[in-house]
Amino acid sequence: PRRTSGPLGEQPEGGRSCEMGSRGGGLHPDVERELFSAECLAARVGEVGRALAAELEGKRPLLLGVLRGAFVFAADLVRALEPVPEGTEVGFLRASSYGAGTESSGQVRVDAPPPDVRGRHVVLVEDIVDTGRTLAALVARLRAEGAESVTTCTLLDKAARRVVDVHVDHSCFACPDEFVVGYGLDFDERYRTLPYIGVLKPAAYSGLSSD
Ligand code: 5GP
Repeated sequence: PRRTSGPLGEQPEGGRSCEMGSRGGGLHPDVERELFSAECLAARVGEVGRALAAELEGKRPLLLGVLRGAFVFAADLVRALEPVPEGTEVGFLRASSYGAGTESSGQVRVDAPPPDVRGRHVVLVEDIVDTGRTLAALVARLRAEGAESVTTCTLLDKAARRVVDVHVDHSCFACPDEFVVGYGLDFDERYRTLPYIGVLKPAAYSGLSSD
């Protein structure tokens, strides 16, 4: 991945920056630094959950998490819908744009047909919007399959990397242009279980991982 790190930009929707590097010890040895602590993630996901709930009242929404990276975020977000809109349903679809690397292949594969979205107000729940290709492809697919509306919601937004112009309705945090893992996000299927979002050490993706 490109290593051009930068300060976090303004948080969309009034979200706040979390304290950087708050975790002294206890980081995974392959993680260079913590970006968003578990506490910070919980607070911001709570805020976005409440905003979404208000917006979706009376709409019988269908929240669709994008596997696999968004499974943790989706699980927390659906429990943060307060008050939960009547008739809320939850599902998942699977898309992949990365193989065992840290750069997008430019190809988006939707591996499973999404649940029936005809006439539904769909909320697409993504882990991270990078080039925007995945989100754009999924929105187009859901519209083509008859969704009444598609709201996009992402945990992290790497706006500096955007290639495809896709509208993000809710973003929890702006993300610097670095490769991040944890809270569901992986590198080569590892690090998904970390409770925080952290920047991976270069050694971890050049085959010199510590375990
Ligand atoms: P896009 O199609 O927007 O380029 O890529 C979106 C997908 O790329 C995300 O759903 C995620 O799977 C992957 N991705 C992009 N940046 C990162 C990153 O920093 N870390 C991880 N683990 N995945 C990323």
